[in-house]
Amino acid sequence: MSVSIYNTLTRQKEALVPETDTFRMYCCGPTVYGPAHIGNFRTFLVQDALRRTLECSGVKVAHVRNITDVDDKTIRESRKLGIPLAEFTKKWEDKFHLDCDRLNMLRPTVEPRATEHIAEQLDMVSKLVENGHAYAAKDGSVYFKISSFENYGKLSGIDREHMATQALNSAGEANVADEYERENVSDFALWKGRKPEDGENFWKSPWGEGRPGWHIECSAMSKKYLGDTFDLHGGGIDLCFPHHENEIAQSESATGKSPCVRYWFHSAHLMVEGQKMSKSLGNLYTLDDLLKRGYTCAQIRYALLSGHYRQQLNFTFKGLDDAKSALAKLSKGIGGALERAGMDFGDFQKEAVSPLGRFGGTIFEPAWNALCDDLNIPRALGEIFAALPKLDGNRRDISALGSLMYALGIDLGGEPQAYETEADVPEEVSKLAQMRWEAKKNRDFASADELRKRVSELGWTILDGKDGFKIKKS
Ligand code: AMP
Ligand code: ZN
Repeated sequence: MSVSIYNTLTRQKEALVPETDTFRMYCCGPTVYGPAHIGNFRTFLVQDALRRTLECSGVKVAHVRNITDVDDKTIRESRKLGIPLAEFTKKWEDKFHLDCDRLNMLRPTVEPRATEHIAEQLDMVSKLVENGHAYAAKDGSVYFKISSFENYGKLSGIDREHMATQALNSAGEANVADEYERENVSDFALWKGRKPEDGENFWKSPWGEGRPGWHIECSAMSKKYLGDTFDLHGGGIDLCFPHHENEIAQSESATGKSPCVRYWFHSAHLMVEGQKMSKSLGNLYTLDDLLKRGYTCAQIRYALLSGHYRQQLNFTFKGLDDAKSALAKLSKGIGGALERAGMDFGDFQKEAVSPLGRFGGTIFEPAWNALCDDLNIPRALGEIFAALPKLDGNRRDISALGSLMYALGIDLGGEPQAYETEADVPEEVSKLAQMRWEAKKNRDFASADELRKRVSELGWTILDGKDGFKIKKS
């Protein structure tokens, strides 16, 4: 069964068919000037779930996600602190990676940084100047001329005639800010001439010293790693205009190939308790904020993925509590089935880390179908819970559920509270289990197996998690 999503470009649901043997997807990554918030993570998690679902359907995926490590914000904040830009952004990039790992997100195949691709960006800007789609201004900046690109507006549906009259703003200036409002459509900066507030952050170019505009990095890096045309491009809905519209204009004008991207995948924003998330309202949460309140990474991932990607997600603390009980219910259902099948949790985890799903004829087929149908995660979760009471020791069903856990990135091993561990584990058993864990960590699998057997002979079962194990009466 193929996976379909709603394509913003064609305004319809379409099956995702790769152009080559690999599905090539590019997602706009974080601007690394502070910790990412849970809204950012909603978008990145939806993209992670799409990639995992594609992999489960048997498709090989190349996933590129950039790091924006130079823009107005990163420069401003690093200068405020008096730290070199690269040092400042590295710190926030590392923090982003830590959070992504904790949320069980797959690392992208390539994660290019904007500052390491200045040459590629300059190449593209030069090409656009040469072929008449861009022009240099007196201050050493280069602008894309939107009136030169006939299809400008095809993604967001913006009115082209209206825009053409506003190529320059009311003061007769072209637009220099990285982000601008829908009302202020104008030619946008591909290259920004050096300004005093840029400090030491500038590079040489044919138009003098300066730095790239924000939009060009995605066009240049997607072209480098995925080619002139590729399959899918993703981002939060706020990026549809102007960022993605500008990317299309740049890429298609530079290469002459259209469409540069066949499927555009946008996710709706996250709201908090019904309100827009903002620092001033005191409702802007990072992953750490929620962990401090005692929630686990798995619960947070589950809650952030529990709504449909095309609808705004209303994040609430009740939603996190619901995630906690849903995960406990899942663990319990799986635990019981494994016992009946004579499998241990390690066997199940193997399914949950293998992307090849076989769902046909299993009780989880409806859940899989829901995922394939416009990545309908809430419906898939509903179908999983509807089927769970029917889950006995049937290995095919267990395996299908393992693959669904892979697609959703639900790591039940990371949920130690999900197992009801007997308090009175005999000392001998607990010692053997500890020795086994050490052997396993040292990759001495023969001893680990032997020790597990001895624990089992004493009437106990070891359940492995990511960072430890639990012991349960057999
Ligand atoms: P940024 O680091 O600001 O470039 O944003 C990274 C990603 O998060 C982009 O795809 C944005 O569209 C997305 N994003 C920003 N705010 C939210 C939000 N409240 N809900 C969902 N996604 C968001
Ligand atoms: Zn981008």
